[in-house]
Amino acid sequence: MRALTETDVRASFVNATEEELETMEMPHDFLFIDWDFRDFFAWRDPVFGKRGYVIVETAARAVGIVLRASESGRAQAGMCNICRTMQPGAQVALFTARRADSAGSRGDSIGTHMCVDLSCHDNVRLAPPLAPNEIRPAGQVDMRLDGTRRRMEAFVARVQENPDVAD
Ligand SMILES: [Zn+2]
Repeated sequence: MRALTETDVRASFVNATEEELETMEMPHDFLFIDWDFRDFFAWRDPVFGKRGYVIVETAARAVGIVLRASESGRAQAGMCNICRTMQPGAQVALFTARRADSAGSRGDSIGTHMCVDLSCHDNVRLAPPLAPNEIRPAGQVDMRLDGTRRRMEAFVARVQENPDVAD
């Protein structure tokens, strides 16, 4: 994706309250991010632990959403709906996002299970180990990358959908 400055990041959010924008903390490694290898950008707030952020790139501009994590620490393993990685219970959490605009002011939100540290981007690059003599089909990792990116972009698009505005 195109490199983002902190100003770009702050201007990208479609569902954040003023208070959330004021108190948002950038990730500690922000200055060292290799944007060429990012399909989207996601992090947990280092201070406000329940908050997370995702920024995707659309044709027009970067679009960011604020997420809120439910309590993690479920007993059972679960699957992240973004990168489709099976995770131990403590590594997957339900994240909800307030809908943008008037739908969000009314209290509408949508949620899905994601990797608790929002590291889908990295997890999907860690392909499962191969059995001896197994040959990895060409393109397998690429397909997982494309799917992860597509599902994250679709989730952000759903946050932006506003049933109040007919199109
Ligand atoms: Zn994931």
